[in-house]
Amino acid sequence: MVNYNPKNFLILAVDDNAVNRILLDKLLTKEGYNTKFFANSEDVMSSLEKINPDLILLDLMMPKINGLELCEQIKLNPHFQEIPIIFITASDDKKDLLKAFDLGAVDYIMKPFHNQELLARVKNHMELKFTRDELKKALVELEKLAKTDELTGISNRRNFLALAQREFHLAKRQKRVFSLLILDIDYFKRINDTYGHPVGDYVIIYVAKECVKCLRKEDLCARWGGEEFIIFLSETNLKEALIVANRIRSNIENQNIVIESYQINVTVSVGVCAYGDEAESIDYIISCADKALLKAKNNGKNQVVTMNNC
Ligand code: GH3
Ligand code: MG
Ligand code: MG
Repeated sequence: MVNYNPKNFLILAVDDNAVNRILLDKLLTKEGYNTKFFANSEDVMSSLEKINPDLILLDLMMPKINGLELCEQIKLNPHFQEIPIIFITASDDKKDLLKAFDLGAVDYIMKPFHNQELLARVKNHMELKFTRDELKKALVELEKLAKTDELTGISNRRNFLALAQREFHLAKRQKRVFSLLILDIDYFKRINDTYGHPVGDYVIIYVAKECVKCLRKEDLCARWGGEEFIIFLSETNLKEALIVANRIRSNIENQNIVIESYQINVTVSVGVCAYGDEAESIDYIISCADKALLKAKNNGKNQVVTMNNC
């Protein structure tokens, strides 16, 4: 961690001994940490969510619920599992210490504690937790990036293929229907040539948004290539798919895209293919939708064409 600042962290300490609590509080507060103290284990669980500590210091020997029992309760709750727990103990009974590690504690400190040692261990575990949290966040972000088309923010081709493949097998097994649309912006090269590439990009983003607007949550729209989109319509037969395709096509045709000082009108051609029992793979259905799209282009563009037994 580049700039470790104790002010950014809250430590919760549970100890039934008032003198220990005072000593710990003085030490941690002086170092800059935020602190919260409990004199017994009983009230900890109900307050934990609100306090949301970054680390817990736990006395091992306490009346009623001892530190080991409290540690077990904390670690059983998925919300709190990641909070590092350090035991502070006067007991050097190896059985207790092993049990503490078994229950998920990260470390222990012997009483009477040495101030600098305690601070060093706290910092060490806090940094580890921080790094772990950052890694997790980065992983989530990476996974999202790997599925997303950078320009439009919708699904990318790879993610679409993975999901469509899975849906295809499900539909085949459960004898369900679905349809696939491939949509391509007409005369798009002219847009780039006339208005420039950034405006072309804007038009692609606009068309992606228009497609998504016409779909249900369970459908999937992805960028298939440059100015081409692919749409998976679950539980949708050919007749219904044609309605969706025509709605997208006419919505786009009937609007002007306003960017800079331009008002641009674009149209799209759409190829439609509904899943039928004869299809052996998602690739086959995609190739049928592609052929239908080609036909739409050859027939004069700005239209929806279906191609089922291609
Ligand atoms: P058609 O009516 O037959 O569909 O022809 P078209 O001009 O729309 O399509 P064509 O496939 O001939 O050209 C597509 C162009 O899209 C070529 C490429 O330079 C452009 N393109 C591909 N990706 C992008 C992108 O991300 N941004 C922009 N602005 N242009 C792109
Ligand atoms: Mg095109
Ligand atoms: Mg194209």
